[in-house]
Amino acid sequence: MKFSTKATHAGYEKDTQGTMAVPLYMTTAYEFRDVEHAANLFALKELGNIYTRLNNPTTDVFEKRFAELEGGEAAIATSSGMSAIFYAIANAAEAGDNIICASQLYGGTLTQTAHTLKRFGIEARFFDVHKPESIEALVDDKTKIIFFESLTNPSIDVADISAITEIANRHDILTVVDNTVATPALCRPFEHGVDISVHSASKYTTGQGLAIGGIMVERKGLLEKIKGNPRYAHFNEPDASYHGLVYVDVPLPIYSLRARLSLLRDLGAVVSPFNSWLFIQGIETLNLRMKEHSRSALALAEFLESHKSVQKVNYPGLKSNANYAMAQKYFDKGQSSGLLSFEVESFEQAVKIVDATKLYSLVVNIGDSKSIITHPASTTHQQLNDAELNACGVPANLIRISVGLEDVEDLIADITQALEA
Ligand code: PLP
Repeated sequence: MKFSTKATHAGYEKDTQGTMAVPLYMTTAYEFRDVEHAANLFALKELGNIYTRLNNPTTDVFEKRFAELEGGEAAIATSSGMSAIFYAIANAAEAGDNIICASQLYGGTLTQTAHTLKRFGIEARFFDVHKPESIEALVDDKTKIIFFESLTNPSIDVADISAITEIANRHDILTVVDNTVATPALCRPFEHGVDISVHSASKYTTGQGLAIGGIMVERKGLLEKIKGNPRYAHFNEPDASYHGLVYVDVPLPIYSLRARLSLLRDLGAVVSPFNSWLFIQGIETLNLRMKEHSRSALALAEFLESHKSVQKVNYPGLKSNANYAMAQKYFDKGQSSGLLSFEVESFEQAVKIVDATKLYSLVVNIGDSKSIITHPASTTHQQLNDAELNACGVPANLIRISVGLEDVEDLIADITQALEA
């Protein structure tokens, strides 16, 4: 099946009522037929619903559909993108281990990996996403994950995915990519050797800024990389918290299985069925929306590049952009999503322009149908000094736009009046 067909059908068998829309199962728990049935479910002798912290029929459709879109084997939905990232890492790493992360990351991921995981005894080592070869020097026998974003937020860089996965595979290390900004409509990381993908579903998946959620997807055949691999002993040895279960011996998708039985069970950052239902609605139009976001973002980027008050435009779909070749290589038809940024003369001018726009909303989000404008130096990156801002690719004079689904002529007209106000 092609992408748009999967987006509208995958993972859903119509119930006895023949409902066209996926039903919303708003329930905390499920009745067992009898004690034997309950015992079989807990022992994994039979698969079925137990409690919505572990599984839910609406969430199940969201997980199956998203896994299909990404070309993966299985997925676990979570309460937010941040918890999907945490689960993807905590499933493999524990105190005493380390992970290797690209420096160009979403701010929340940077603080989670550099600071919060440190308090759990997991060390994050950083590499420049433009220098994948520098990963080699950071690897040791305690390295459990290599983590990066396919299309980075907010610096808008494109990772050389296969260069990173080649190095990881040489050392039998799992790779995790955050594919939130590119989305499976534009980029399918498993085709380039990635093992696990994570997403904030709060962005393009919902598409209208409706709900917070996340999802972690594992590629097909991941068992082979984990089975017998000394880096991942806890998948290969009995789990005392699950009556001695050895995950590699269970004929179910390995990474999702352990995340569900151990992390969802014990940490509980589970998605609401209602949010899963909203994400299912969003997915149906994901492909159409990503084409339009990409088309409008390119038109706006080209306009900004030609404007005298704009010093530099960052958009990987522009031929002048340093990431152009990578975008052509990894994104469908080079379509580069809806995120762009541009630099003006000064911090003060950036503030003036942002305040003068009327159609763009001043919001710290991306991937909404409504266009969003932000000035990172006065909001998300306020605590950083000039040197730090430059180092993470968001200088004080930078404005970021998440291009929505309005008519691009109106978007260009509004930014023009703001630039010339
Ligand atoms: N990953 C990326 C690339 C993001 O942009 C964000 C949020 O902006 C997240 C993860 C975190 O997602 P959430 O806000 O759903 O926790």
